[in-house]
Amino acid sequence: MATLFTQIVQREIPADIVYEDDLTLAFRDIAPKAPTHILVIPKKEIVSLAELTPEDEAIVGRCVMVAHKVAQAEGLNGGYRLVCNSGDDGGQEVPHLHFHVLGGRKLTWPPG
Ligand code: ADP
Repeated sequence: MATLFTQIVQREIPADIVYEDDLTLAFRDIAPKAPTHILVIPKKEIVSLAELTPEDEAIVGRCVMVAHKVAQAEGLNGGYRLVCNSGDDGGQEVPHLHFHVLGGRKLTWPPG
């Protein structure tokens, strides 16, 4: 069974897609936690950071580059936050690696 996010990649579930390339997809979070909240995912089904293998290095690098590209496109010139929740204690709910790009307001630290 494809993950929820793979279903978005395959256009089986609608999403507000803001960027796509051969390795990644970026779309707006359905429940935004900040004025800008975009998820950047690898098209490859990788569960979390814990499941990365050395061959995934270029994919993760691309995700981070795309996150910055998306933040720039959103006009987040004052800064933004890139978050990757991993595993249960990390607060990960969707078992498909994803990076949250959050911005458009002053973000607080530390997270809960
Ligand atoms: P959390 O839900 O605790 O933030 P994750 O780090 O796994 O856990 O984040 C999953 C994110 O996916 C959430 O921000 C959630 O709002 C978002 N999300 C879930 N379903 C969809 C969807 N169909 N389209 C866009 N975003 C989604």
